[in-house]
Amino acid sequence: MKQLVILILTPFFIHCSQSISTGNVEKEQALSELELATNETSESVVSIEFQKDSIKDYSNLSEETWKQILTDEEYKILRNKGTERAFTGAYNNNKKSGIYACKGCNTKLFSSDTKFDSGTGWPSFYDKIKGNVEDVADNSYGMQRVEVVCNTCKGHLGHVFNDGPKPTSLRYCINSLSLDFKEH
Ligand SMILES: [Zn+2]
Repeated sequence: MKQLVILILTPFFIHCSQSISTGNVEKEQALSELELATNETSESVVSIEFQKDSIKDYSNLSEETWKQILTDEEYKILRNKGTERAFTGAYNNNKKSGIYACKGCNTKLFSSDTKFDSGTGWPSFYDKIKGNVEDVADNSYGMQRVEVVCNTCKGHLGHVFNDGPKPTSLRYCINSLSLDFKEH
């Protein structure tokens, strides 16, 4: 009788142990795929960062290359002079201490020391990092404004107005999407 029970139960145990080991294999496969995906992501980020720092001349960069470096939203702002919607940017309320660099080329553009709350819904600074931000006359949309661009890659950052706080009385009104914040 004992032998009969063992005989009956044996296939059941074999079946269970097989399904457990199959389950483990599947899990391991899923994990390794996940690892692979994570590795691919970090590698692509690294390659883009490497690309940014290794580019010496931004004046002849093709639109295709810009589309690889930037997201669609960043491309619209930096390369097509777009404007992000007020109060939607990542850095509008950022009060951390650090440097705001260009999203396109990593050039240091603004310091958190000169950031102030303008209430406009865009990150605002009363001064720029000298030599790295260029003012350009902008008469589009029937308005006389001064556009500010990155001096290195000529990417559009925003506009500068004369209603800022002391000591400069300037208000650099900048799109968060044009910036990459590096905390001190
Ligand atoms: Zn730039």
